[in-house]
Amino acid sequence: MRDAVPVSLPAPEMPRSPGTPGGGAGQRLRAIDTLLADRGQLFQALFLGAPIAKALVDLDGHVLVANPRMCALTGRTAESLAGRHVDLLAHPDDPPVGDLGLRPAPGEPDLDPNLLLDGERRLRRSDGTELWVVQSHEVVRQNNGTPQFVVLSLVDVTDRRRAEEDAVRRAFMDPLTGLPNRRALTDRLRHAVALSRRRGLQVGLVHLNIDRFQAVNDALGHEAGDLLLSQFADRLRWSTRVEDTAVRLGADEFLVVAEDVEDLDGLRALADRLLSVLDEPFVVNDREVTLSASVGLTLGADMTPDDLLRQAQSALTRAKADGQRARIEVHEGALSRSDVDALQLETELRHALDNDELRLFYQPIVHLADETLLGYEALLRWQHPTRGLLPPGAFLDVAENNRLTSKLGAWVLRRACLDAATWADDLRVHVNISARHLAEDGFSELVAAALEESGLPPQRLELEITESTALFAAEATLHSVAVVTDQGVTLALDDFGTGYSAITALHRLPIHTVKIDRSFVADVVTQPSTAALVHGLLQLGRGMGLQVIAEGIEDLDQAAWLLDHGCAMAQGYAFGRPAPLPSPAEVLIGEVTETPAEDVAGELLPEHPGPAPALPRQRPPSSPAGHDLVDTGRFGAGSLFDELADPDDD
Ligand code: C2E
Ligand code: MG
Ligand code: MG
Repeated sequence: MRDAVPVSLPAPEMPRSPGTPGGGAGQRLRAIDTLLADRGQLFQALFLGAPIAKALVDLDGHVLVANPRMCALTGRTAESLAGRHVDLLAHPDDPPVGDLGLRPAPGEPDLDPNLLLDGERRLRRSDGTELWVVQSHEVVRQNNGTPQFVVLSLVDVTDRRRAEEDAVRRAFMDPLTGLPNRRALTDRLRHAVALSRRRGLQVGLVHLNIDRFQAVNDALGHEAGDLLLSQFADRLRWSTRVEDTAVRLGADEFLVVAEDVEDLDGLRALADRLLSVLDEPFVVNDREVTLSASVGLTLGADMTPDDLLRQAQSALTRAKADGQRARIEVHEGALSRSDVDALQLETELRHALDNDELRLFYQPIVHLADETLLGYEALLRWQHPTRGLLPPGAFLDVAENNRLTSKLGAWVLRRACLDAATWADDLRVHVNISARHLAEDGFSELVAAALEESGLPPQRLELEITESTALFAAEATLHSVAVVTDQGVTLALDDFGTGYSAITALHRLPIHTVKIDRSFVADVVTQPSTAALVHGLLQLGRGMGLQVIAEGIEDLDQAAWLLDHGCAMAQGYAFGRPAPLPSPAEVLIGEVTETPAEDVAGELLPEHPGPAPALPRQRPPSSPAGHDLVDTGRFGAGSLFDELADPDDD
């Protein structure tokens, strides 16, 4: 910056360097006279050759001439600058200089405000990049004092400025993850609270702590631990909205500040999205690592940032109490109990798959006339570590609210096909498909993959969908279904008659089977209006060439009525309750011992395997009906119902 200007002077007139003993004012004046004698040379030395960017500018701000350093600095040629106004160099994101109210210094002419802007400012190069300079200006006057033009000088300070900004950034940034650190948090939180309060909304805090991270460090080493943390931070960053801030508070502790949270649902949705970053395992040094996190949530508007942080921390402490993992706790008063339960259940459900806690139970579907076993419906169960065996009604709704549905659906489909492939060749498997899953991209490929992997012929798979799914399916879904049915897979319309437009649904999709809902079957004997309706449904099914299965047959009267009215197929406790597959060992020794007395929704499963006739190679132990059937052996000898009447016969 302070390089000497190369000035070539004839040797005899070379001025002595300042400070040289004997150098006097007279000598210096002579040197200047010499310089002035050759103005071209002076111009070259002081302006064109100057190591500082300079431009001669008229009083209105138009460039007359720019030196090479100015061209290099601004990325423009001397020709392209000449005649242009200096505001060409201004950064477009800065306020117009004219708005800054700059005034010339006393005794200074009325210059264009761009010329008055002495000091540090931001400019833009011709390639759009940012540039920081210290600007100064000097007015050049004629001999009579009239201002003639301005010499504008720019000193490039971009590097220094960057270094300063970097230092500030580093002070507020966690070096490992690149996330803002605890020091940055207070400021952001104060800002978020103020902003949200103004908008009548709240600030939500999601305080996450990775479970057993010390164990990960111990097992894999600290370097791998660091890699995991930065991957986790990256995923967090991607899953936050622009208005949210993810912060690393310390070792394995993170916090997300969410501005403008409307209510509990909003906070729940955010927590859900954040926790989903743990769905996929992390890969560190070619090893897959699955992490879980405990979470403390809080929501507030009229409180200090410190109070909010304390609330989140106390919720997190409760979540981690007694060494618990993957728990979500909410600061009391912020969320209702049921909200917490749903959130908690959802977190646990995410891990249920990995922890091998899901089960498929199978319920027989039989030919009503001779009780021949036709196949089984796969029904999902969750062997929850603390709550016991849960029926789908206890957890599927939770999954329906988020992306878990397709994960669960894929698992069910694959497991059911693998199981069914081990049964006798004539037995089919029915799999329930949720509307969400069916509408998802890649559904048909998933079915094809499940069939291929298991070797199950497509004709042995029937997908059960509900009326509303069929009714409201988008065109893309219809196409995906067509691809599946073209392979030979069939479709059943589940819970038929419970929707408001069952018949329309039949026209939208290539339905093969309708399953009359058990709410109709329950009343078919006692309620003439229901009887008339079921009669109608059976006729409709027959008329349309559909198979009809009556669901939920619990007693012999219902079975007899349906048989009389032409219903061909049936399912219900009368023919067997949903039950798990026996283990291969049990099949080998020819003994079907049921998982003892499993209590699903309060119903005790019977102790004896059921009598479904056509025994598959590996057959789920279809269970006999409830005790009511024991007393109602009205069917002829050898019938299913006789067998049911006396469990000891088995
Ligand atoms: P669904 O497909 O209509 O299944 C029949 C339900 O009725 C089953 O309940 C079954 O246990 C019950 N059931 C069968 N026979 C009788 C009977 O005689 N009396 C009575 N009271 N109930 C009987 P579950 O297993 O609780 O399943 C409930 C619903 O959950 C199913 O209704 C189905 O819509 C859904 N579901 C089950 N598994 C899955 C699955 O893997 N994926 C999806 N998306 N949904 C599933
Ligand atoms: Mg079903
Ligand atoms: Mg049903």
